Amino acid sequence: MSEFPYADRFPVNRRLPEQGRPRQEILDELAVIAAEEDDTWAGGRISGTIYSGDAEHYAFLTQAYGRFAHVNALQRDLCPSMTRFEGEIIAMVLDLMHAEAVTEADPGIEPAGLVTSGGTGSILHALLAYREHARATRGITIPNIVKPETAHAAFDKGCHLFGIEARTVPVDPETTLVSPADVAAQIDQNTIAVIGSAGSYPYGTVDPIEALGELAAERGVGLHVDACLGGFILAFANELGHPVALFDFRVPGVTSISIDTHKYGYAPKGSSVLLFRDKALRTAQYFHLVGWSGGKYMSPGMDGSRSGGLLAATWAALVQYGREGYRRHAAEILTTAAAMRAAVTAHPELRLMGRPTFCFSFTSNDFDIYHVADFMRPHGWRFNGQQYPNAIHMAVTRPQTRPGVVAAFTADLAEAVGYARQQHAAGAHPQLGAVYGGVEGGLTRESEAFIAAFMNAMLDTQQSLPPVTETGP
Ligand SMILES: *Cc1c(COP(=O)(O)O)cnc(C)c1O
Repeated sequence: MSEFPYADRFPVNRRLPEQGRPRQEILDELAVIAAEEDDTWAGGRISGTIYSGDAEHYAFLTQAYGRFAHVNALQRDLCPSMTRFEGEIIAMVLDLMHAEAVTEADPGIEPAGLVTSGGTGSILHALLAYREHARATRGITIPNIVKPETAHAAFDKGCHLFGIEARTVPVDPETTLVSPADVAAQIDQNTIAVIGSAGSYPYGTVDPIEALGELAAERGVGLHVDACLGGFILAFANELGHPVALFDFRVPGVTSISIDTHKYGYAPKGSSVLLFRDKALRTAQYFHLVGWSGGKYMSPGMDGSRSGGLLAATWAALVQYGREGYRRHAAEILTTAAAMRAAVTAHPELRLMGRPTFCFSFTSNDFDIYHVADFMRPHGWRFNGQQYPNAIHMAVTRPQTRPGVVAAFTADLAEAVGYARQQHAAGAHPQLGAVYGGVEGGLTRESEAFIAAFMNAMLDTQQSLPPVTETGP
């Protein structure tokens, strides 16, 4: 990572400029930078990250966003549009996750939702809701959750922030799935919720949600299903002939679901939906300060001011695609993922992790799989590196469905396997380590100082401080 990205071509701003610059000059500068960065994923060789990649769609979202970017969604008296957009987003996603099953089973329960800033936002609000609800209804003051080891790191982040104990259950190394009996053994009178993924970030596999639902209902605890990644794909998988077990509100014990509009919902970054079986859970985490000198303050979630642009653009993405559009893209992605997996399983040296869906991970019993990643990186491939065991991860998105990508993957992978065998025979160590997000360098669980230095390097380049003298860069 360069300490001064783009400093060789464009001015470095370490003071607020005294005189502003012409708009066109700024837009030209941004156009150069954006075009170069778009080139990195345009070939379809980057795992995840870019979910749509459709320039026309992005232009459309930007128009919708631009109409409302300056609007504060917190102030509804000024913008009834936000009540419409947010309400309809929640209704449409509740419908996708079969909330009708909730009221059919018990007309006294009303499902509800919350639009948040991303998958982490949805998971944090879910944990806060479970904690507050359990405190109010069960008197729990030292709460815990029980989560499979594969559940997203955001659950641990939420536990860290909200004083909840995270009880982590190992998964079966073959199936990558959690055993309901192992989860049951960790539940006690202070458990507020158990977690399942559909699918999990590391392996794209779906936890046994029906069994976890039965367990949760029997023990009187919540079951949060994390469909952040998979929701908009797996909702269509069965009708497209890629069978997956039920994971939504049709499973009686499921009490909340997180599902990211900013991933396979093809909305702009900064949007996700959290759904609750029972509105009481959502209400439990509302915040208000009615005696404040600034007036009666209340906010439905953790954010204060929120951009109306994100609500408008998320709404626009949903109504623009409709079920037909999402189904069509899910079909392309599921077919592409199956073809890429076939390229993997054609090599006896490679092993898929469990039974994946739209994204998958693979490892090798014969050599360190990072040799494969090392070989493919110069060919433009960027996988996410995983650990325990070392594996490489491909989240298949629309850029991979472009013509020629599967064929290139198949050909490059075949060469990479040959390279890995040679490297292994020569006793060589691979160059790539395993950090979420694909950072290079071998890391151990303990390297906290290294991790702090890495994040500091991201935030505190020399560029991020004002110059001490007039002659700074
Ligand atoms: C991406 C992801 C999250 C976290 O979402 P962010 O949008 O990165 O905050 C949570 N769970 C799963 C399964 C994910 O893939």
